[in-house]
Amino acid sequence: MKHRVNVAIIGAGFAGSILASILAKSGCSVALIDATEHPRFAIGESSTPLADMILRRLAKLYQLPHLEALSTWGSWQDRFPYLACGRKRGFSYYQHFRNQVFSERNFGRHSLLVAASANDSVADTHWYRQDVDEFLYREAINRGVVGLLGHTVHEIESEPTGRSIIRCATPQEQVSVTSDWLIDASGSAAVSARLLGQQELTETLRTRTHTAFAHYRNLGSWSEQLRELRQDTQRDPFDSDDAAQHHLLDDGWVWMLRFNNGITSMGRTEVLGDNSKPITHDFTEYPSLARMMATASIAAPAQGIRSTGRLQHLVSPVISQRHLLLPSAAMTLDPLHSTGIAHALGGVDRVSSILLTESEHEQQAAIQQYETSFFEESYLLDHLVSTAYSVMHDFERFTTACMIYFAGAICCEERLQQGQNPTHLWNADDPTFVDFADQACVRLLEPNGDYEEMISEGLAPWNTAGLMDRKVANRYAYTATK
Ligand SMILES: Cc1cc2nc3c(=O)[nH]c(=O)nc-3n(C[C@H](O)[C@H](O)[C@H](O)COP(=O)(O)OP(=O)(O)OC[C@H]3O[C@@H](n4cnc5c(N)ncnc54)[C@H](O)[C@@H]3O)c2cc1C
Repeated sequence: MKHRVNVAIIGAGFAGSILASILAKSGCSVALIDATEHPRFAIGESSTPLADMILRRLAKLYQLPHLEALSTWGSWQDRFPYLACGRKRGFSYYQHFRNQVFSERNFGRHSLLVAASANDSVADTHWYRQDVDEFLYREAINRGVVGLLGHTVHEIESEPTGRSIIRCATPQEQVSVTSDWLIDASGSAAVSARLLGQQELTETLRTRTHTAFAHYRNLGSWSEQLRELRQDTQRDPFDSDDAAQHHLLDDGWVWMLRFNNGITSMGRTEVLGDNSKPITHDFTEYPSLARMMATASIAAPAQGIRSTGRLQHLVSPVISQRHLLLPSAAMTLDPLHSTGIAHALGGVDRVSSILLTESEHEQQAAIQQYETSFFEESYLLDHLVSTAYSVMHDFERFTTACMIYFAGAICCEERLQQGQNPTHLWNADDPTFVDFADQACVRLLEPNGDYEEMISEGLAPWNTAGLMDRKVANRYAYTATK
């Protein structure tokens, strides 16, 4: 079987499928190839204001109203109540100590809540990926995209003309797809880079972590435990269960993301050292977490808890002038700040515009800009994330490390809201901000350094949301830009 198309996309996750819809809507012939079938288990579920703003931008630019509907909890529930998702009002963090029930003598000493939305209606969401990815795939197929599910890409040939020949197979048949453009949206598999022996840059990343994750049924409520502990939840800007919940442990952290179908995504992530043991979901040493887990049973994946080796990988997103990787294929960083969905969607936005540019000169310049933006964003995030891990045992320092990330994210959201289209996400195109973030990270790692004044004063030009205000006891209610 042979296909000839303008654009071949490897990977029918949400990013590949949205890109396919945009290109098909704009008149390109597109083949979308994936080794698996929908629905399938996938991780990477917690959306953010930036991700949702890019969804709305793409919806408007390419007249794809389903993307706008998926960009807030309220519109999602109105339009697609049959697609499972979770309500996400913001980010919450709780510090636990071994063999101690969670408690705080001083409110906010071991907890942090950062609101990302003003109310439930405009809240962000956790994507139950098996529903969302299948839906977005069907949307692409309905727009005329050739879907090749169950087809594993095993060979890529690049012709001198710039065309690619992609060979993929099911157990029954061999298929070849010839395309003018090849876009790799295969996520952490980075299929085309690996098949073509692209140089790995992973060792240039500072972050070194591994994880073990699964979906659970009947995982207990954290908000209920807080109420039982008489935690002053009235002062919280949102219900703690409606969040990307981070439980910090002595040796890593746990995420909990609750969907509206009774399922919770849970993963435990740790720094990877030479003697690291495999990560388990045994929380006997952390009684408050053990209590939530007591009623829980694994819902997916079918093989049980999925463990990874080192999570990080990095390659250049530009393999040739007609062969690009989405940011989510060129880099996997870490789940700590939930940056993957926004990075993938930012890539969809930029790659669509590159492919739909008619002038070759402008196209070349845009490809160069794509690569520059990708690396500058990736190294900024890497520095912020690796620093947060290094200081995770010290809640005040950890909170400060998060504040630098939030300031960059909020500045970028504000620029998007003003109608600008920055070349980089997270304010990574502002060299003064990046310099400051680098210096602040170094200062945070100095064991006896007085970091607080330096960082709160230095952050001022970008701190439009009143971050690092000691009076609010780590409860930030007004960071929302929508
Ligand atoms: C543990 C973990 C937690 C994360 N949590 C978050 C989070 O909370 N928030 C967030 O924003 N981001 C998160 N991320 C990042 C997020 O998962 C990714 O950014 C996102 O999944 C990328 O989506 P995608 O559509 O680009 O690729 P994917 O969803 O990975 O899809 C890639 C597709 O490529 C297909 N494929 C692979 N190999 C082949 C092959 N040889 N041939 C054909 N097809 C192939 C796969 O079957 C798959 O369907 C997390 C990542 C990890 C690892």
